[in-house]
Amino acid sequence: MLAVLRRRGIVSGTVLDAMAEVPRDLFVPEHLAELAYEDGALPIGDGQTISQPYIVALMTEAAELKPESRVLEVGTGSGYSTGVLSRIAGHVFSIERHDSLAIAARRRLADVGYLDNVSIVVGDGTLGLPEEAPFDAIIVAAAGPRVPEALKAQLALNGRLVMPVGSAAGFQQLNCIVREGETDFRTEVLAPVSFVPLIGAQGWQR
Ligand code: SAH
Repeated sequence: MLAVLRRRGIVSGTVLDAMAEVPRDLFVPEHLAELAYEDGALPIGDGQTISQPYIVALMTEAAELKPESRVLEVGTGSGYSTGVLSRIAGHVFSIERHDSLAIAARRRLADVGYLDNVSIVVGDGTLGLPEEAPFDAIIVAAAGPRVPEALKAQLALNGRLVMPVGSAAGFQQLNCIVREGETDFRTEVLAPVSFVPLIGAQGWQR
């Protein structure tokens, strides 16, 4: 898997180390474990998917995490990307709207010993987590029609928000938004991607 990530352009040593450390086979359904180290998305129940390793690496690299970073993740899913983020950042708050997925993710993260710097919250991630803001990085693992204003408001100065924006039908652009001032945001487009929809007050209405 690491060879594929390098070939596709991931250069950050910290990101590659984190991808090497997290056992992805423990985050996919047992009958799909033999596919865990292929570079593809896989179903995890509730109509949701565990993200493709390359996309997890790309989003993590774009977030430019530091050991002290406080990170908000929207869309815990299997908990795999949460685990990757937790190997690099200081603390990861991850919000999931399906409580069944949140419970399973929390259990897996506990099993691999990653819960010390991870908090899993059930709720609508389009509203962020105002009580824990500001965040040095916000990673949204589901695609919305636009970047939620609530999330922009919870981004620290020089913080980075990585999120797929576009249609609900699986064609989106991965955006990286950098907060350069109180009301000043710069957007970079990273790659075309295909994510499940972000459903919530500042996302799709279902
Ligand atoms: N990164 C995850 C994959 C996430 S898939 C992994 O590595 O496994 C996207 C997830 O976003 C799904 O689990 C979906 O239920 C969740 N989701 C969609 N809209 C949401 C919202 N408004 N708040 C929180 N989670 C949301």
